[in-house]
Order: sequence, then C-alpha cells, then structure tokens
Amino acid sequence: MTVVDVAVVGAGAAGLAAAYRAYELGLSCYLLEAKPRIGGRVHTDTETFGVAWDRGAHWLHSADINPLTRIAEELGHPYLARPRPFDGNFHLGRRWGTGAEWRAYRDEFEAAYERAHEAGDEGRDISVADVMDNGSRWARMVHHIFTAISGMPPSEISTGDLAAYRDSGANWPLTRGYGALLEARYAGLPVELSTPVSVIDTRGAHILIETPRGTVRARSLIVTVSTNVLASGAIRFTPELPPRLQSALAHVPTGHANKVAFHFRRDLFGLPETSYVNFMDERDPVRPACSFQINPFGSNLAIAYLGGDLAAGLDRAGEAEMISFARAALSDMFGADIFNELSGVAATRWTSDPHTLGAYSCARPGHAHERAVLAEPVSERFFLAGEAVSADWYSTVQGAHVSGTEAAEKAAAFLQRAIAAARQR
Ligand SMILES: Cc1cc2nc3c(=O)[nH]c(=O)nc-3n(C[C@H](O)[C@H](O)[C@H](O)COP(=O)(O)OP(=O)(O)OC[C@H]3O[C@@H](n4cnc5c(N)ncnc54)[C@H](O)[C@@H]3O)c2cc1C
Repeated sequence: MTVVDVAVVGAGAAGLAAAYRAYELGLSCYLLEAKPRIGGRVHTDTETFGVAWDRGAHWLHSADINPLTRIAEELGHPYLARPRPFDGNFHLGRRWGTGAEWRAYRDEFEAAYERAHEAGDEGRDISVADVMDNGSRWARMVHHIFTAISGMPPSEISTGDLAAYRDSGANWPLTRGYGALLEARYAGLPVELSTPVSVIDTRGAHILIETPRGTVRARSLIVTVSTNVLASGAIRFTPELPPRLQSALAHVPTGHANKVAFHFRRDLFGLPETSYVNFMDERDPVRPACSFQINPFGSNLAIAYLGGDLAAGLDRAGEAEMISFARAALSDMFGADIFNELSGVAATRWTSDPHTLGAYSCARPGHAHERAVLAEPVSERFFLAGEAVSADWYSTVQGAHVSGTEAAEKAAAFLQRAIAAARQR
C-alpha cells in the first residue's frame, strides 16, 4: 500500500489548512474526514431554508488581522465591517430596555471582562465568576455573553486563558457564510469523506491509521479533532497519548454553543437588516438569557445563540426542547403572531454531534498553562492542530487555520530531517 508523507485527520478549518500547506510544500497527503462534508464546525447551510445561514462559525473574529479576511477578499466573499456589530436592542421580558439600561448592562460586562483580563495578565488564573458582580441586575446577561464567548459558564472560564486571546475588537460576519468561504478556498483539495479514523498506531516505521475503508500508512501525522473528541477515546491510540497530554485535554475541554434558526415568509421584526438583540426576562429570575441575530443580510431569519451550560443542556434534552426555549424568547419579544408566518425551523446539535462533542475550547480556572501542552509535538512526527492548539486565537477559525498551516510545516521539517539523516547513513 502507498505510504504518504503526511496523514491529516479531520477536514475542518485546521485539517484543510494543513493539507493545503502540505501540498504547497510538495508533500503527498491523505486528508481523512469522518463526515460526508468538509468544514467541521464551519458549515453554511443553504438547503434547509433556501437561504444561507452558518450552523457554526459566522464571524471573522479579529477580522482586521485575521488571515481569512484576506482570503475572503481574494475569493470575492463579502463581509460586513461594522465597528460595533453587537450594539443594539435589549428585551427585558415585559418591555424593551432603554438605551440607558442597555448601556448599564454593557458597562458591567466590559468592566468584568477588563477585571478578568487584569487578573490573567497578573498571573492570577482564577475563574471569571470570581471577578463578576454575580448579584447584580445584569448578571444573567453578562453570564450569557461570557458563555457565548467561551462556551463555558463563568465559573469554568480561566482568566489566564481569556487574557491570552488576541482580540483586535473587529468582528465582521461573512455575507455568504464562513462555510461557503472554506468550500470556495478548498474546492480542489483531495479529501476522503465519510472516513472516520478509529485506531492510530504510531509504534512502527510507518504510522498506521485505521479507517472503515482500509489502513493508511504515513510518515507523519496531524490530528485536528476537538479536545472533547480526543479525550472521548473515539480514536484509540497505540501507545496511549502521554499522561501530560491527557491532563491538558481534560483541563482544556470543548465548551458548548448552539443556534436555533427560525425562517419567516417575510420580515416581521421592524429592525434594520442584520440586527442583534439580547433577551433577559426580568419577570422570571431563573430563566436564562440569550441573544438573537435578526434578519441577517435580509434573509428573514431569526437565529438564537445559546452558550455554555444552557446550550449543552438543551442539546442533550433534544431538538424540541431547544426550539421551544428559543421560540418562547422570540415570542416574548416580537409577539406570538409572528409564528403564523413561520416557514421553517432548525437547531444545531454541536454537543451531541459525535465528531465535535462541543463548540470551542476553554481552559478551566488554574489550567491556562496547559493549553501550551496541546501545541507540543506528541512525538517527532505526530502533531496536533485545531482551534484548541492556538495559544492566542483558540476557539476560532483563524486559530484553527494558523495551527493547521504550522503543523504541516512542522511535518515537512521532520520529513526533511529524516531524509537528511537517511542520506548520512
Ligand atoms: C455554534 C458555533 C459558533 C461559532 N462561531 C464562530 C465564529 O463566529 N467565528 C469563529 O472564528 N469561530 C467560531 N466558532 C468556532 C469555530 O467553528 C472552530 O473554532 C473551528 O471551526 C474549529 O476548527 P478545527 O479544524 O479545529 O476543528 P473541527 O472543525 O472540529 O474539525 C475537525 C474535523 O475532524 C472530524 N473528525 C472528528 N472525528 C474524526 C475521526 N475519528 N476521523 C476523521 N475525522 C474526524 C470532524 O468531523 C471535523 O470535520 C463557532 C463554533 C460553533 C460550534
């Protein structure tokens, strides 16, 4: 059987970038993907409603310095470069909040974010909950925003990890979708779809990678699956992953986020195209807060964003529960009558999807330093890549992209060293 220079497991943003770079460097490569599509957690769905919506990543984060922004420009994929995309409307359950109420919540979030950064920068790796005003009027809304950013409740977010993220402040949504951009970028890239890897044996002269379609032999290996998938044992490694890496996987888990998309026959919201609204019901102190993107790019969609414990809990409870939660919030804001014009609804299930088991990674308090372990080579010819591996752009597409590109370069360097050593023998 053919032996390839590098086998890449997973065709998400990291795996695609790794394979692309491997070919640029003149390496032979197998890109193995469990799903029948590429993109992983980046997936633009145009089939469900006949209009594009991103089931996963949507925003070019740190967009002014994000390498995918330049790729979008080169490929003619437009984006909306607004300075404050999340400015907006705030519903309090019985009525819309005033501008002053919105400002008060926002000031409180920004102050908590700053205190978390200060703690992290000073080396105090505590939880974000420790620096929040948990008894305040706006605590539930602030909790929601942190879960949307990190995929975990504030009590599980490390201030050290949060402070390490490189945020330029620019967040620009892609008009035709992030998944559509990756589809365009990687249209010609060879990939083995519907090929889940089950066993990886790194003991011999060549690395053996077992799939239902046969065993792949490779000189080097890049694995890009999420930390939760790696920790789940879905891929059996021989020998086992080192204890230091297993500890890092446990302490930098994949957090949770899900979306519920409602499609209407016409625009019923009375808001400008691509608006953003927050919802926190002051009538019911235990009802979790959430947010919505309204009518993105004139699509007549309302897309709920659920983060952390709420996203994971509703996902595990089932699609009907998730839809019912989001529908109730939308109904309270815009009236139940809008559902007379509903043409379709869909919910994502990133938590129960066996190929992701979550949305994006987040270090637990006291464990920010363990993220660096994920970036260390597992052996001289075995590398991890993916969003979780990125020290400063973790949890994003650009972090996955950069880590995949770098992993391919590390594999190429190893192969060159191996060739040089063989020549000397
Ligand atoms: C709801 C949501 C919203 C998000 N919003 C944004 C955003 O706006 N902007 C942003 O930058 N990021 C966002 N993200 C995060 C972003 O999507 C991820 O950080 C990024 O896509 C991760 O890419 P990756 O290549 O590291 O991992 P993945 O995309 O998970 O790729 C890994 C691939 O491995 C495959 N795989 C799993 N197991 C196996 C196996 N055994 N064999 C073979 N293949 C396997 C998976 O199917 C997957 O395709 C969001 C994510 C979610 C879920």
